[in-house]
Amino acid sequence: MDEQHRQTEMLNVLGELAASIAHEIKNPLTSVKGFIQLLQGKIDGYSMYFNIMMAELDRIDSTINELLILAKPQAVQYKNTNIIKIMQETIELLQVQTLMDNIKIKTDFKQDDISLYCEPNHLRQVFINILKNAIEVSKKNSSVLVGISIETEKYIKISITDFGTGIPEQRLKKLGEPFYTTKERGTGLGLMVSFKIIKEHGGKIKVESEVGKGTTFHIFLPIEQSNKMQD
Ligand code: ADP
Ligand code: MG
Repeated sequence: MDEQHRQTEMLNVLGELAASIAHEIKNPLTSVKGFIQLLQGKIDGYSMYFNIMMAELDRIDSTINELLILAKPQAVQYKNTNIIKIMQETIELLQVQTLMDNIKIKTDFKQDDISLYCEPNHLRQVFINILKNAIEVSKKNSSVLVGISIETEKYIKISITDFGTGIPEQRLKKLGEPFYTTKERGTGLGLMVSFKIIKEHGGKIKVESEVGKGTTFHIFLPIEQSNKMQD
C-alpha cells in the first residue's frame, strides 16, 4: 500500500469510528431532551434554566451533526424536497435561541414551494449553521432576514442577513477553514461543513459583509442537477 492509500484508509476508519461514537451520543441526548421538555411543562418558574439546558443540549447536538457529516460513511439520500419547508422547519428549531434574546427571524419567500433535488438533512444542517452564526452575532431585539428567490432560471438564491458585528475583509477568506473560529466556545466547523455540502450540491456560497453593519450569506443552488450526486 502506498502512502496516499494508507492515509485514505485511515481516514475511512476514523470516519466510521466518529460516526459510531456520534450515534452513541445522539440516542441518550434525544432522550434527555425529551424528558427536559416534559419537566418544563410540569414545573413553573424555572424557564430560564430550562432554556439554557435546551440550548446547551442543542449545542451538543449540532456539534455531533457536524461530526457526522464529516465522518463520511452514512446514508446520504438525495430526493426532491421543498426547500421552503426545510427552511421553515429550521427556523422553528432555532426558536429557543431567538426567544431568549428576542431576535426576530423575518422571512421573505417569493414562493411557498420550491422543489430541489437535494439531501434535505444536509441542507437543513447548512441553514442551521448559517442561521446560528447570524443569531450569535445579533444584538438583543434585532432581526435576521431570510430571503429565498429564484435568481435565474438556473439558480435559486437563499440569503441570510444579520445586523451584527460584520467580518473584516482579511478574515473573509478564512471562512470555511477547518477550526477557524473567533468564538471562545466555537468549533470552527460549521462553515466548513456548510461550504462542503453546498459544493456537493453543485452550488456556491458568497459572503458580503461590512464591519459594524452586518453580514449576508448568499447560498446559490442549481435548480437542475441531473448529472450530479452519484457519489
Ligand atoms: P463557529 O461558529 O463555531 O465559530 P463557524 O464555522 O460557524 O464556527 O464560523 C467560523 C467563524 O466565522 C466564526 O467564529 C466567526 O468569526 C465568523 N462568522 C461566521 N458567520 C458570521 C456572521 N454572520 N457574522 C460575523 N462573523 C461570522
Ligand atoms: Mg457556527
